[in-house]
Amino acid sequence: MRQSEPLHGPGRLQQDHELFPVHLIGSTQPYGVLMVLTESTFTITQVSQNTFDYLDIRPQSLLGKSVLDLLEPSSRAQLQQSLRTCTHHPSYVPIAITVANTVKSFDGLVHRTNQCTILELEPASPQQTGQPSGALQNNLHQVIAHLRGVNDITDFLQTAVTEIQTLTGYDRVMVYQFDQYDAGSVVAEVKPPEEVSYLGLHYPATDIPTSVRQLYQQSTVRFIPDLTAPPVELITIENSAAGPAEEVTSPLDLTYATLRGVDPCCIEYHQNMGVAALLVIALVKDNQLWGLISCHHRTPKFLPCSTRLACEVLGQLVAAELGSKVDKTELHYINSLRTIQADFVDSIANAKNFKQALIEPALRLLDMVSAQGAAVCLDQDITLIGHTPTLEEVKTLSKWAMTETSTEIFHTSCLSDVYPTAATFKTVASGLIVLKISQFRRYLILWFRPEVLQTVNWAGDPQTSVHETDEGHILLCPRNSFEQWQEIVQATAIPWQPAEITNAVALKNAIVGIVLNKADELAQINLELERSNRELDSFAYAASHDLKEPLRGITNFSNILLKRHGQALNESGIKRLQTLVKLAERMDGLIDALLKFSRLGQTALLLQPTDLNLLVPTVVEMLQAGREEDLPPLQVQIPLPLPIVSADPVLITEVFSNLLSNALKYTDKPQPLVEIGCLTHEERLEQQAATDITPDSCVLYVKDDGIGIQTRHFQNIFRLFKRLHERDSYGGGTGVGLTIAKKIIERHGGRIWVESVYGEKTTFYFVLNCKEK
Ligand code: ADP
Repeated sequence: MRQSEPLHGPGRLQQDHELFPVHLIGSTQPYGVLMVLTESTFTITQVSQNTFDYLDIRPQSLLGKSVLDLLEPSSRAQLQQSLRTCTHHPSYVPIAITVANTVKSFDGLVHRTNQCTILELEPASPQQTGQPSGALQNNLHQVIAHLRGVNDITDFLQTAVTEIQTLTGYDRVMVYQFDQYDAGSVVAEVKPPEEVSYLGLHYPATDIPTSVRQLYQQSTVRFIPDLTAPPVELITIENSAAGPAEEVTSPLDLTYATLRGVDPCCIEYHQNMGVAALLVIALVKDNQLWGLISCHHRTPKFLPCSTRLACEVLGQLVAAELGSKVDKTELHYINSLRTIQADFVDSIANAKNFKQALIEPALRLLDMVSAQGAAVCLDQDITLIGHTPTLEEVKTLSKWAMTETSTEIFHTSCLSDVYPTAATFKTVASGLIVLKISQFRRYLILWFRPEVLQTVNWAGDPQTSVHETDEGHILLCPRNSFEQWQEIVQATAIPWQPAEITNAVALKNAIVGIVLNKADELAQINLELERSNRELDSFAYAASHDLKEPLRGITNFSNILLKRHGQALNESGIKRLQTLVKLAERMDGLIDALLKFSRLGQTALLLQPTDLNLLVPTVVEMLQAGREEDLPPLQVQIPLPLPIVSADPVLITEVFSNLLSNALKYTDKPQPLVEIGCLTHEERLEQQAATDITPDSCVLYVKDDGIGIQTRHFQNIFRLFKRLHERDSYGGGTGVGLTIAKKIIERHGGRIWVESVYGEKTTFYFVLNCKEK
């Protein structure tokens, strides 16, 4: 079995059709006469056997004669001219021939093929002159104007089929569009109301063999007025009784012949479909077969040559307009993509939360590339939007994407080809775009498209469109076709368009640009901050230093007053003067603390390997020495050896000294218990606040069993002069110790924080760099 005509559908008809040269079929349709003429003398070398029906002359009598001898003198010159100038594209020529003593008009079509000329004659319809009549011309103008006015591609094609149906009167007119796999689908249709719709039905590429496709690219109109009409054989000089005049060797190429015979397979298929007459107009855009306009009729239907020529013109117009409509639709789409992208950039640039700006509104991220699902992966933090694989599946996929794709953007419309696991979630993610926002961190945006099978728009239930005859013949075979097509597009999504990919890359560039800008801004702010901190430090230093002198004067003069003029004052006067001295002394203490603090920002950091196993005991000894003798000796536990850190030993001594003295101060216990240590790897994992700390740092702690601190004070105890207690309770203090400790740790690049159970215990943690190995 072979197949040659379009829209055949069933697979059983298609075994070797790819190889069958349909243009060499060797027979004609009976609605006219075909003659093959020599180029120079216009001698008839081949002719269809049906000449008697039209010309009253037996074919054998025509072979070897010049065609010019048949004609009325009026037609002769015109045909001669046409025969000389014709190309492989058929051109129209009106012809008059005397048949049985009456002059008959014919519509003639002449074209050239391999060293010979073909003349096709069909009786001119009574009202036809062969050229578009005034009415037809008017019609054509209206149709063209109407078509030009429609912009949307779908409406345009629908208008085209409606107009062609009006012009030709066929029962059903459809536009069949090829996809990137050469498969196709019906994208526009007019049909009788009682007939089943083919709109949206898909057909595999095999339904229209390559040879037929090529034929359509060359000869854009195919006309079969009666599929049931018996074929007409061609006879040649060789096989005629007239004897050889010229040898005919190769089979006749009927590519451009309107009367070309019909492949039996095509007849069978269309008869099964209930089609008796057929007109197909090819739509060739940019030298590619874009699609076909296919017209079906349930009974034989003849279309005058002039109307067919008008249809051919319309087909060319539709194809030409198609280009601009498709371009317009694409342009419109590209513009809408750009608008979405600009909107994105705007909201990301102004957003406080970058992730939030990406995922809200969710539809925007999907529309960005016309995806049905997306995942925003910021390391472990994955947000899913729309139709996606499961969180676990996306997690594994993102790991794969990070390692296995090397470019900033990767896309596929058949993910399972490169990532076989995707077969399990092909229904939601056969198509994938991976956009890497960072090469170092797992910052990705993934977009998903479902398997194309999930998105096919069947006009009706495909099952109901299938009819099987008693002999098992399939009348209309969308399902058969669908099954084949299914195999072709298995696990495949609609491909990503270049504009969509460009849009995704543009989003990444925008994100990177915005992030870089933000980093620049931050660096600028940091510089500014450093400068103002330095200024503040030197101001504090200068101010506190200068304050000391007048204060010393106040204290001295107050003391002199008390000593020398005490007798002149009453008791309350003396008390007030004593308070003045005390306050001045306190102020002196505060100024000292402030000086110490501001000096920290002025002096250089002398980093060196500092063994805490040596440093901490010295601090403990120092504190022990300063402790009142009647108090029990200090109990400081160090459960494990301490690390060697890279630090300024003088400043770190200050930190330990402040923390230890606080631990011993803020307690109600006569024998307080203090522990100093360094968190182990396991302990660090349990410590939420320590999770982001790099492995080359150590987390040290000073723990006590003292009075504890309420959670609301965790931050403000580090503020300058902040004390939580009465001035003189718990041994008094200036409220500077923790501020200094914090400043020292931060100057070392670390941080300090506190955890406490009020009334029970307090632990201060701080981070220092380990000594480089
Ligand atoms: P000072 O000890 O001179 O008041 P600090 O800056 O060292 O100043 O401490 C600030 C405040 O934090 C202290 O006044 C105290 O209220 C609280 N504090 C510090 N360490 C502890 C601790 N180990 N236990 C309970 N409270 C503490």
